[in-house]
Amino acid sequence: MHRKHLLKKILLTLAIIFSTTSSFAGDSYHFVHLKAQNVEERSAIANHIPIDQIIDDSIYSVVSDYDYKIIQKNFPHFLVASHIYQIPSATTNENDDEFPSNDTAYHTYKETITELNQYQQKYPQISEIFSIGKSLEGKDLLGIHITAHANKVALKQNPDLFIPGIVIVALHHSREHLTTELALKYVDHLLSNYGKDATITSLINTRNIYIIPMLNPDGGMYDIKNRSYQYWRKNRRPNSNGSFGVDLNRNYGYQWGTGGSSNSPNSDVYMGPTPFSEPETIAFKDFITATPNIRILLTLHTYSELILYPWGHKYSGVGGKDEEVFAKMGQTMAAWNNYTPQRSSDLYIASGDTCDWAYGERGIFCFTFELSPKSGWFGGGFYPGTKAIEPTFQANIKPALYLIDLADSPYRALK
Ligand SMILES: [Zn+2]
Repeated sequence: MHRKHLLKKILLTLAIIFSTTSSFAGDSYHFVHLKAQNVEERSAIANHIPIDQIIDDSIYSVVSDYDYKIIQKNFPHFLVASHIYQIPSATTNENDDEFPSNDTAYHTYKETITELNQYQQKYPQISEIFSIGKSLEGKDLLGIHITAHANKVALKQNPDLFIPGIVIVALHHSREHLTTELALKYVDHLLSNYGKDATITSLINTRNIYIIPMLNPDGGMYDIKNRSYQYWRKNRRPNSNGSFGVDLNRNYGYQWGTGGSSNSPNSDVYMGPTPFSEPETIAFKDFITATPNIRILLTLHTYSELILYPWGHKYSGVGGKDEEVFAKMGQTMAAWNNYTPQRSSDLYIASGDTCDWAYGERGIFCFTFELSPKSGWFGGGFYPGTKAIEPTFQANIKPALYLIDLADSPYRALK
């Protein structure tokens, strides 16, 4: 063969190989270790990427290709180490909506709905499924309302009746599946101990407890696509530039877009085009607004073992007695779960999150739990496996009962 033709053939073959790999291989993610000296430096980084974990002056995160390039461009001096992770591409046409084989104990969307239905059937007197709306892809955003039958009847007759309320919500972020498991464990524990455990019986008799185990089911199920974890964080909004997803925990409409979030649709901390642009955050906002008896909100995330409270969008605390209440409640719960309690912005600035909105707009005492593990690179990060479920529940049941109890008046925490 003529040399020129041979070269042409090699180039053509290479072009075919590369185009094939790029269109069929899974995305890659990068585990990055950054060094930042103080909260201002961390906040500068948080404008572009999610920060998963902070240990002293080190930041550990898992970031997309796009975000990795942003780091290389803007913060090369902070970058200490990185490891690339290639998400396995689809080897079969598996579309069976199930977790990777080691983690089938985790609940898919369908399994979650089935389980909620089973609870309602088993405990019809004290539980009722409710829907707050639909996800972008049309999945029902379901929760379960746990309260004594007499309260349900009384509320239906008089919706303004004050029976102290608390809402526990999980899975804003797709890859944080452990949060759904904890929410379901709470449901099981509360319902199965009614009439057996005096404290729980009394709480169900006197409180409205709302538990929403999966606020972002589209993202959650995308994250287990092909039964391989996708490291997906956002929802599945098709953005105008061809990328996907809005970070739901940067999309709430209180001081939205004022730091610690990105206006780039490609970013994993994309705030969305406008505040409350997403059906999931709109549904949650509308539910809270329509349920004025809610005094306390617990939003579950992973990981790092933290108890966080407002503000997130600015460095100061909320001030006054409320700041004392947040601090006291955080410390009290930390004694049980051994997590670190702190103001959210002590880590870095983040705006548009659930708790800033819930407290800033509605005066609700709102806590974010970052569940186990403590460490990402050495502890399992977002995917700690089945073994993490029970210990996470054991560590966090007392904090939950404490929050439910204080829903009548969080100020009692100071007494
Ligand atoms: Zn999260």
